[in-house]
Amino acid sequence: MSRTTKISIVVPFLNEMDNLPTLLERVGAVFANRAEDWELLLVDDGSTDGSPEWAIEQSRSNRHVRVLRLSRNFGHQLAITAGLDRTDGDAVVIMDADLQDTPETIPALINKWREGYEVVFAVRRSRAGETWLKKFLAARFYRLFRFLTQTQIPMDAGDFRLVDRRVVDALREMRELHRFMRGLTCWVGYRQGSVEYDRAARHAGETKYPVWKSARLAIDAITSFSAAPLRWIVQFGMLVCVLALIWVIYVMGLAIFAPHTLERGWASLIAVIVFLGGVQLIGIGMLGQYVSRIFEEGKRRPLYILRDDTRDTAAPPS
Ligand code: UDP
Ligand code: MG
Repeated sequence: MSRTTKISIVVPFLNEMDNLPTLLERVGAVFANRAEDWELLLVDDGSTDGSPEWAIEQSRSNRHVRVLRLSRNFGHQLAITAGLDRTDGDAVVIMDADLQDTPETIPALINKWREGYEVVFAVRRSRAGETWLKKFLAARFYRLFRFLTQTQIPMDAGDFRLVDRRVVDALREMRELHRFMRGLTCWVGYRQGSVEYDRAARHAGETKYPVWKSARLAIDAITSFSAAPLRWIVQFGMLVCVLALIWVIYVMGLAIFAPHTLERGWASLIAVIVFLGGVQLIGIGMLGQYVSRIFEEGKRRPLYILRDDTRDTAAPPS
């Protein structure tokens, strides 16, 4: 006899006390009349507002709730990783705690999975309650990322998705520190499908992803998937060399045929020096981005440190 299918819902959270109770309620309602077994795996990413204590309390009375606590704030992507590492679901849904990813979309994800798709993205049909700047930058980022990396990440899909056990196992093989989970789930291949949903506004609380943090994720995403910026430096350097050569010939011509004009070159000289100085600094900085990646990966530290797993501390079944 085959055991019942288990769906695991991995939810990283940071200070989401006002959202977790509603989240649990709505996820519970979704599964109330479904045949699958389910687990809500809440990953506490260093919260300080009492939400982990609340979650652990729930896990004592509700067998569907399981809590992982990280030892400090490691960031959204690593919290997801911790959840994927520890879950044993046949399919895993990754979603945010703030109910922007609507739990009511989960059945659609599961249906698509049952059709044979190993990765099912929830693609935003619309996006409520976000600043135009964030939406604009997000749209630009997805297009740039696809252009640079040839990784076909679907436009306008966040981290909300369902992945099959096989994909989870593949993701667990990838131990890079700077991880962009959306890119990695595309990278693993398999059959990838999508369903549409209307992204809601945050249920309560403030976003933990201000624009600068999103920008950092974008830089991480690009530098971990593409060396194109390094190619750009080389191409730009070549262009400057060609221009410089033309300029040198021109100046030599002046020196021979109109020597008196050369004394007036101060302004153009300064302009060229300052400009090239800037370009060189950008070039070194870009190189530095990649070198620092090597440095950080080279340390081979664990990606996160787990403090508690309520399943380990739970009393063993008699
Ligand atoms: N989050 C996290 N660690 C962090 C920042 C955010 O676990 O360092 C969680 C957060 O609690 C939420 C999800 O990641 O469940 C997405 O964050 P948020 O909703 O603030 O981002 P936005 O939707 O505004 O991009
Ligand atoms: Mg959110």
